[in-house]
Amino acid sequence: MSEEGRGLQSFVGDVVVVGGGVVGLATAYGLARRGLKVVVMERGYLGGGSSTRNVSRFRVHFGNAENTRYAIESARIMERLSGELGWNAIFKRSGYLWLAREERILNQYRELNEKVWKPLGVPVKFLTREELAERYPYIDKSRYVGAVLGEQDGEFHHDYVMAGYYTRGRDLGVEYVENSEVTKITITNGKVSEVRGRRAFAKAKSVVVTAGAWTKDLMLQLGIDLPITPVRKEIGVTAPVRYFMEPFIIDTQTNAYVAQTMRGEVIGSIEGRDEPGLKPFENTLDWLTKWARAMEEIMPSARRLRVMRVWSGFYEMTPDHSHIMGRGRDWPEGLYVASGFSGHGFMLAPLTGELMAEYVATGRLSDLAAPFSPDRFSSGNMLKEAVVIG
Ligand SMILES: Cc1cc2nc3c(=O)[nH]c(=O)nc-3n(C[C@H](O)[C@H](O)[C@H](O)COP(=O)(O)OP(=O)(O)OC[C@H]3O[C@@H](n4cnc5c(N)ncnc54)[C@H](O)[C@@H]3O)c2cc1C
Repeated sequence: MSEEGRGLQSFVGDVVVVGGGVVGLATAYGLARRGLKVVVMERGYLGGGSSTRNVSRFRVHFGNAENTRYAIESARIMERLSGELGWNAIFKRSGYLWLAREERILNQYRELNEKVWKPLGVPVKFLTREELAERYPYIDKSRYVGAVLGEQDGEFHHDYVMAGYYTRGRDLGVEYVENSEVTKITITNGKVSEVRGRRAFAKAKSVVVTAGAWTKDLMLQLGIDLPITPVRKEIGVTAPVRYFMEPFIIDTQTNAYVAQTMRGEVIGSIEGRDEPGLKPFENTLDWLTKWARAMEEIMPSARRLRVMRVWSGFYEMTPDHSHIMGRGRDWPEGLYVASGFSGHGFMLAPLTGELMAEYVATGRLSDLAAPFSPDRFSSGNMLKEAVVIG
């Protein structure tokens, strides 16, 4: 019986993108701009993975040169996305503020600055306790000896970025199939040939797996074991209050973070039990209490806030906390991956979409992308990223 006869939608195209998160949508858009015929197959609904469950913040301050360079370029693209996609990404350089309770922590950031940020021309400010108190009077200054301020870091709105990639992609001919978990990628004579989803079937010569936290399971079916571990993260927002907090604030001791959305909600989180595995999207009272206490330590007035909504999503962690993109040396021809963003994937998606599209369409792997090869784990060229938040 034909695939249509089985009730499956059928496609013949150039590329199948597996997973409709921001990385998948940005890649599909990039490929369609290059004139390729693309179908995106999504297990649930577009954006239903981590891409609409995050804090929508970006930074250029990373712990190694490769990630820092990558993030600078991705932020540049994010900044021009509104004009390009026709949806306002609500991009704003509102800053990141790392609070330090000990001089030792400030010294670690000073070292990072000398080693990574200064050579790449990434400015950063070191604030004394007094400067902190003057600029941010709502922060409990008695608790912190100083802070690190990245003024060129900031925020965007994940829903609008997703909608922009989706609609521009659709205008360029990208087909999207929701509720269609990919259950099989067929390899014929060492090359990808077919992709079977629950509601669709596609023949294509390239497949890009952008399945976020679910990537490892899918790749295992092909005998490829990628070191990506899903870790559930909880997060919440309070009822809105008058806008008072501009930067994204991290307490480096507790790793708790808070920020304010433009609607006035205070959004944030802290590490909870964070057990690895594809745990259900639930929340725990333990986490909520821990977050509330940590938020009050950062700014005592937080005790007057009322938590309005909580939810959870996955960080897709790799052993070195840097993402994986491209293809392995011994992989079947036409198979690619972009995943394992370890909690900072939305901000890196605009560049990832462009570089993946270039690689798949032309075979050219940019210098910015090359270090993130899946082969780095076996060759020992790990990219240890120490600045992970939450
Ligand atoms: C609480 C929290 C806060 C965060 N804050 C930030 C932040 O401020 N800034 C930032 O940059 N990042 C942040 N992140 C991380 C960011 O959200 C992710 O790294 C990013 O969204 C990953 O995008 P993705 O497209 O790779 O994965 P996802 O958005 O998870 O998309 C993967 C998609 O693949 C689909 N899929 C899986 N298996 C299959 C299959 N077999 N067939 C078809 N489809 C499949 C899934 O349903 C999913 O929709 C945060 C994450 C969390 C959880």
